[in-house]
Amino acid sequence: MIDPETWYQCDRCTACCKWPGDVRVEDDEIEAIAKHLNMETDDFIQKFTRLRMNRNGLSLISRENHECIMLENDKCTIQDVKPFQCKGFPNRWNFPDWQKVCAAKPVPMKEAIKLGLVEKGDLSANHPLRGRDL
Ligand code: SF4
Ligand code: SF4
Repeated sequence: MIDPETWYQCDRCTACCKWPGDVRVEDDEIEAIAKHLNMETDDFIQKFTRLRMNRNGLSLISRENHECIMLENDKCTIQDVKPFQCKGFPNRWNFPDWQKVCAAKPVPMKEAIKLGLVEKGDLSANHPLRGRDL
């Protein structure tokens, strides 16, 4: 459930980078990530993506322990260009009882905006809502 009065500030616990399942990547995100990694788009697709479980698009691949392939030493190596699925959790999409598995801290929305915690454009009606396929 999305609470418009509260912003949940990510604690960078990386739990959501270790859950099994898809990390959705759309075409524009693939291009941005490939560029960030100095790779040709096709090479990036071959090396780092697979079909999503519902076969409706691509996902980043995971290691055997389910960690996202972009996670290294508990840090996202593509932080500046990470997919919307990652950027959007838990403020733009989440699931029942998500707080049991996520360490994000609640901050009143007005304070979060004042503190600059809410990314520019994040409150826009045009913000892309690309959550996980649950
Ligand atoms: S892209 Fe980065 S933020 Fe997203 S799951 Fe992978 S490591 Fe985590
Ligand atoms: S969104 Fe939550 S689970 Fe993911 S890294 Fe941030 S605090 Fe951890």
